Amino acid sequence: MKCPVCGTVYRPAKGSKGSLEQNNNFKEETATISPLSSQSTLLSMASPPPTCRRCKADLSDLFRLHDLAIWHHRQALHLLSQKRYPEAAVHNNQALALYYSNADFHALAGKLSALQGEFQEAVSSWQQALKFDSQNAIACNCLQMIKVMAENY
Ligand SMILES: [Zn+2]
Repeated sequence: MKCPVCGTVYRPAKGSKGSLEQNNNFKEETATISPLSSQSTLLSMASPPPTCRRCKADLSDLFRLHDLAIWHHRQALHLLSQKRYPEAAVHNNQALALYYSNADFHALAGKLSALQGEFQEAVSSWQQALKFDSQNAIACNCLQMIKVMAENY
C-alpha cells in the first residue's frame, strides 16, 4: 500500500502466520500509520480515519480497499476449507484485483490452482508470491514440494 499523496509505502506487519487476518498493523521502516484501529473490521467507521504519518493525507479509502481485499481473502480461505475451490478462486482474484502486491493472496492463488490440477498456474502464482515476499512460507514450501515431485516422477 502506498500513500497516494506522498508515496510513502506501508506494508502489512510481517511475522506470525495469518497476521493479516488478525490486525491492521502496518509498519514501514520510517513511517507508521496512526492511530491504528485494533481490529480490521470491514468498513469500521468507529475509529478516526487513518492518516499518513508523513503528509497527513487521509488514508481511509486506501484502508477500506485493503480491508475489502482481506475480506475477499477470508472468504476464499473459508471456501477453501469447504473444498469449494472455484468459488474460492473467484474471491481470491477479487482480493488480488484490490491488492496485487500481497504475497499471501498469490500464495493462496497457487494453492487453489494446484488443488484444481493446474500446476503450471500454481507455480507461477507461487513465484509471484515470492517476488513480493521472498520469505512467504506457503510459496516456498509448495515450490519445494513441486520440485521434489517433479524429480521423483
Ligand atoms: Zn503521505
